[in-house]
Amino acid sequence: MKKRGRSSAPGIMVKPREWSCTFDGGAVAVSNEPLSIKCELPLSGYIDHWGQEYRFNDPVLVLATVTGDTSGLVVELAIEARTEVDCARCLEPTPLEISEVFRYFYKPLPETEGGQGQEKDAEGDEDLVLVSAVEGEIDLSDQVWEYLILSLPEKVLCSEECQGICPVCGKNKNSGECRCPGHETDPRFDVLAELIDDTGEKAPGKGGNRNGRSKK
Ligand SMILES: [Zn+2]
Ligand SMILES: [Zn+2]
Repeated sequence: MKKRGRSSAPGIMVKPREWSCTFDGGAVAVSNEPLSIKCELPLSGYIDHWGQEYRFNDPVLVLATVTGDTSGLVVELAIEARTEVDCARCLEPTPLEISEVFRYFYKPLPETEGGQGQEKDAEGDEDLVLVSAVEGEIDLSDQVWEYLILSLPEKVLCSEECQGICPVCGKNKNSGECRCPGHETDPRFDVLAELIDDTGEKAPGKGGNRNGRSKK
């Protein structure tokens, strides 16, 4: 059984400092030959996103193809990663393979008089990165991080048929129904519950979430 629940260590909030996946933009711009780049970016710990913990133990694999010339470069970026996140219904740790392809563009900043070329991303086009020149060393790792976060699904289910947990007692219903009101109960249990009631103790199933776990 794997560890469940919130981790105590802080999550990874920003791109890990050691991440680097560079290529020589000049080589592509001058030769007009496509360039393939492979990187393995280490990732260990968890990313807090959508109010959940996406746990990582393996590097993110990056495969990029760069084409273009001095007027701009096109980067086709494929990322693969393995993560584990709690099922949205039953909270069991669920493995997830991330495999996504993105495309974006590097364009030189437009030549402007009076030095007004400081604008960052062109408005309305998030896939455009403006650089002073495409001929220098270009690092893809910012984009890998950005797209990795974008690839994290809001909800992951251990199975489409997942029965979830009982909102009253917190039991994982994939391993059988619980005895809370609204479900079929074992008559022997009803007798027991009455006995407990008579002694002034709280009957199970009437006091809310016994193990304190709650679900949105
Ligand atoms: Zn589940
Ligand atoms: Zn229940």
